Amino acid sequence: NPLNHLNFSGGPGALPESVLLQVQQSIIAVPEVGLSILGISHRSDWFASVVAELEGNIRELMGLPEDFHVLFLQGGATQQFSMIPMTLLRGKPHPAEYLHTGYWSGKALAEARREGAIRVLWSGEASGFRRLPGDEELAYSPDAPYLHYISNETVEGLQFHRVLGRDDVPRVCDMSSDFLSQPCEAERYSLIYAHAQKNIGPAGVTVVLVRDGVLKNAPADLPGFLDYRSHAQAHSIFNTPPVFAIYVVLLITRWLRNEIGGLSRMAEINRSKAGLMYRRLDDSHGFYRGRAETQDRSLMNVTFNLATPELEQRFLAAAQAAGFSGLSGHRSTGGIRASLYNGLTLSAVEQLTGFMEDFQRKAG
Ligand code: PMP
Repeated sequence: NPLNHLNFSGGPGALPESVLLQVQQSIIAVPEVGLSILGISHRSDWFASVVAELEGNIRELMGLPEDFHVLFLQGGATQQFSMIPMTLLRGKPHPAEYLHTGYWSGKALAEARREGAIRVLWSGEASGFRRLPGDEELAYSPDAPYLHYISNETVEGLQFHRVLGRDDVPRVCDMSSDFLSQPCEAERYSLIYAHAQKNIGPAGVTVVLVRDGVLKNAPADLPGFLDYRSHAQAHSIFNTPPVFAIYVVLLITRWLRNEIGGLSRMAEINRSKAGLMYRRLDDSHGFYRGRAETQDRSLMNVTFNLATPELEQRFLAAAQAAGFSGLSGHRSTGGIRASLYNGLTLSAVEQLTGFMEDFQRKAG
């Protein structure tokens, strides 16, 4: 199916075909169970083994230290925008520190403000979120209860290529749009969260990796569903979990381990894909204009503009007609965004850069 092959959507995004074929089969019957994945009880032994294998795969792929809990929650990354300050900010004498690097970190800090005092350590808003801060622009406080940032701003196409913060202040990171796309030094964080619908599965499940110390110090009176401890104690079966979404994430982690060969290899492939795209922009003599400053370019979301909104509309219409899907930029920024998540192949990117070369020649 060429349309699925050429899915550049910002999310939910492309998933690998070998996984989709297994998912297709599981709708009728999961081979080892004989029942449809849509009708298997979350209380079954089989599902407990799915959760255990998935947890093990994530631990192994990321090299996660023992004191991390691996949780599969609902409510998307958006619910984490609230659960994090409820857990780590309530009753604290000092403000939490947030970086405002784009659309999604703006959403995260607005939710945190409902919970307590926050300090915006740096904001790219006035300059249109075209770059990320350098270390010399970040005056971290040793008193902050935590530092929150987003490793990859999905909308603007900005990605940190280093770990931020101080070792004596808990780091909390939204990795929704680059989770399991590369190694990430997980041991340097206190809490990492990522919804599934970019690199690792369909919407409906959010992975939270959280250190035991964070749970131990959480307020005692949180609602059960919003307390990480409930989910940790119940091994992610505190209530009915999204069995289907969790199963697909398991298949993706098997694919990463067995077909790709781990996160370093995945990162190489992702660097090749992004390299092709950025080379196309840079070699276009200003026909395609990259949105992000070079050093902060995202390997996952390549954002760019053409000379006028009219030319962009022509580009998008021609791309659509040629079978490319999901290329229009986020509603807040416009322009073009090509998302290159794990499931998108190098060959799909080669086809897109070929199309872009062609389009430029015909328009020029
Ligand atoms: N954080 C990031 C980095 C995102 O890209 C998104 C959505 N695309 C969100 C948070 C919000 O996620 P959700 O829709 O799962 O709540």
